[in-house]
Amino acid sequence: DSIGVWVLGDQLWIGQAALAARSDARETTPVIFVESRDYVRQRRYHRQKLVLVWSAMRHFAEELHAEGWSVTYAIADDFQTPLRNWVARYTLDTLYVMEPADRPFQQLIDGLVLGCTVAVLPNNHFLCSSDDFRNWADGRKRLVMEDFYREMRKRYDVLMAGDRPEGGTWNLDKQNRKPPKRGLKPPAPLQFEPDAITQEAIATVKNFDGATYGSLDEFHWAVTRSQALQALEGFVRDRLPTFGPYQDAMVTGEETMWHALLSPYLNLGLLHPREVIATAETAYRDRSLALNCVEGFIRQVLGWREYMRGLYCTFPPDYAEENWFDHAQPLPDFLWDSSQTDMNCLQQTLQQVERTGYAHHIQRLMVLGNYSLIAGLNPQAVEQWFHAAFIDAHDWVMQTNVLGMGLFADGGKLATKPYAASANYINKMSDYCQGCRYNHTQRTGDNACPINALYWDFLLRHEDKLRSQGRMNLVLSHLNKMTADEKAAIRERARTWQTAPTAEGT
Ligand code: FAD
Repeated sequence: DSIGVWVLGDQLWIGQAALAARSDARETTPVIFVESRDYVRQRRYHRQKLVLVWSAMRHFAEELHAEGWSVTYAIADDFQTPLRNWVARYTLDTLYVMEPADRPFQQLIDGLVLGCTVAVLPNNHFLCSSDDFRNWADGRKRLVMEDFYREMRKRYDVLMAGDRPEGGTWNLDKQNRKPPKRGLKPPAPLQFEPDAITQEAIATVKNFDGATYGSLDEFHWAVTRSQALQALEGFVRDRLPTFGPYQDAMVTGEETMWHALLSPYLNLGLLHPREVIATAETAYRDRSLALNCVEGFIRQVLGWREYMRGLYCTFPPDYAEENWFDHAQPLPDFLWDSSQTDMNCLQQTLQQVERTGYAHHIQRLMVLGNYSLIAGLNPQAVEQWFHAAFIDAHDWVMQTNVLGMGLFADGGKLATKPYAASANYINKMSDYCQGCRYNHTQRTGDNACPINALYWDFLLRHEDKLRSQGRMNLVLSHLNKMTADEKAAIRERARTWQTAPTAEGT
């Protein structure tokens, strides 16, 4: 049998299932990479995301070539034409491809007519396979992340002391929610200078005729496995020891805080979650790092990441269409252009996303997600926006994070209540309100922070639905203390803002 391997753009690792299955026969196994321009024209992407993916693909193709594989690298409009030609040229009987992480891409593969058999091998880029997750989920009433995480700790023997959790408790999150204090100075993350291949990818993106977003002025991402390993080592050495306490804090000019900046590499296959977790645990044991820091980090990778992916595989495809609140507001223009908002929290976060493609979890959840939720933006449009704006965006990770966690569009399939907050939260957890033209303590009036009116209006609009959630009752009881005039003023302020979301518009 003549067999070839197609390597997808987020499967850039020698151990991935399709390459691993042929590693003993590399001299006789042709390998192909395809950059399809039509595919990228279907939606907007951050310019740095395109550079990252294309540069990482081109680097990995060169590495495989150097290791003795015979590699074809095609740049074409569609996938089918170069694949068909390559199948014919090598008279292949079978094409191996590892199961794509994103469901729509599997459909794309199913629709290809290539003139050979296509064998889809199970994806080995996650610790918990989709079948394992389904087995865990089967028969459970609620799919609680904490339950899943404990099971994963036991199954993979991570931070365990025998059959008990290291340190006696599973969860040290309470120590990890400190508001920022003055003068916080997180160690800077490693940056990588573009080499010739990346420069070429930058030129490709500059000349690309599809719709894009974001800036290409600075590009500092790792594009090879060896650089991604340096990023991992740098994180574990410099930031993991103090990762925990300020995990939820936001500080102007400190864009990454103590976060890892590893999601782009994990999501492209440049790093495997197993090695990321093992490196963190080894550092904990060898260097006696604080448990709340290491546990807090491992919870993200072994817990949240695997859980979100497992849910994506388990939920039906129409999860993508969920809209529990029937939210229909169009996206405000400022999401595409940060200079068009005068709310400081949004402007700081959006400027950063434009410049780097990155924002940390709390900026995503509590600044961008929260605003989108309480302003009633259409969840599918918001998901499209996140997909366009972020360096680490992929269908499997956006669906549950944006629709489920950020927007509660699934009515609580994964979160126990909506992450809705007033300006009080932003003021407590960041310094953004200090530099803002709006007043975070006021609910109504032209200078009041719009987040407050939108927040209370969100509760008023959805009071009945939210009551059914149980966990919202304490917050909703505040509505009973409001006079009819106060409610009317909040509604009015929220409506005006929704139609024209800038101070000039009010
Ligand atoms: P750290 O905070 O240092 O965490 C370490 C790692 O844990 C991350 O690299 C990531 O791989 C993993 N992780 C942590 N939380 C999650 C989570 N909820 N889901 C999946 N993985 C997680 N993550 C993406 O990879 N791509 C996205 O497009 C994305 N969009 C998001 C959108 C919204 C609205 C929200 C609320 C979260 C989103 N996340 C996404 C999850 C999370 O915010 C990012 O993974 C994280 O901010 C990446 O930065 P980091 O590597 O510095 O993370």
